[in-house]
Amino acid sequence: MDKGGGGVDRDEALRRMTQLMLQGAVMLEQTCPLDGLPLFRLRSGEIVCPVHGRVMIVSDESEAREAEIEGIISMAQYVAAQKVKESLDEGDPKRVKEWLDVIESVERIKSLRRRSAEGVDKEGERGGRGKA
Ligand SMILES: [Zn+2]
Repeated sequence: MDKGGGGVDRDEALRRMTQLMLQGAVMLEQTCPLDGLPLFRLRSGEIVCPVHGRVMIVSDESEAREAEIEGIISMAQYVAAQKVKESLDEGDPKRVKEWLDVIESVERIKSLRRRSAEGVDKEGERGGRGKA
């Protein structure tokens, strides 16, 4: 089905898609909102449309929210670290432990978030994993 395409040459689009795959990009289920072509995730993690180049599939709002979450997580860690220092100065081992627990939780959340972001990439790159 041809949607009209807005002057997009199908052969050219196919050629670029092939090129992207040769570069190790992974075809995604999401499509470009402008032309309906499948989007690709580059090894660098960028999401691109073969015709339009870089495309943000996430809305600006959710991107901003994501950045805010990152900021809050880092802030929690920073504050907790300061509290650890305060508690040490006060000689209160119980509080030290409490705040260290907070830092530990933050670290865990951070690495979980990192892993889930990377996990998507690796699944596509390795292709026939479970078979080995
Ligand atoms: Zn596009």
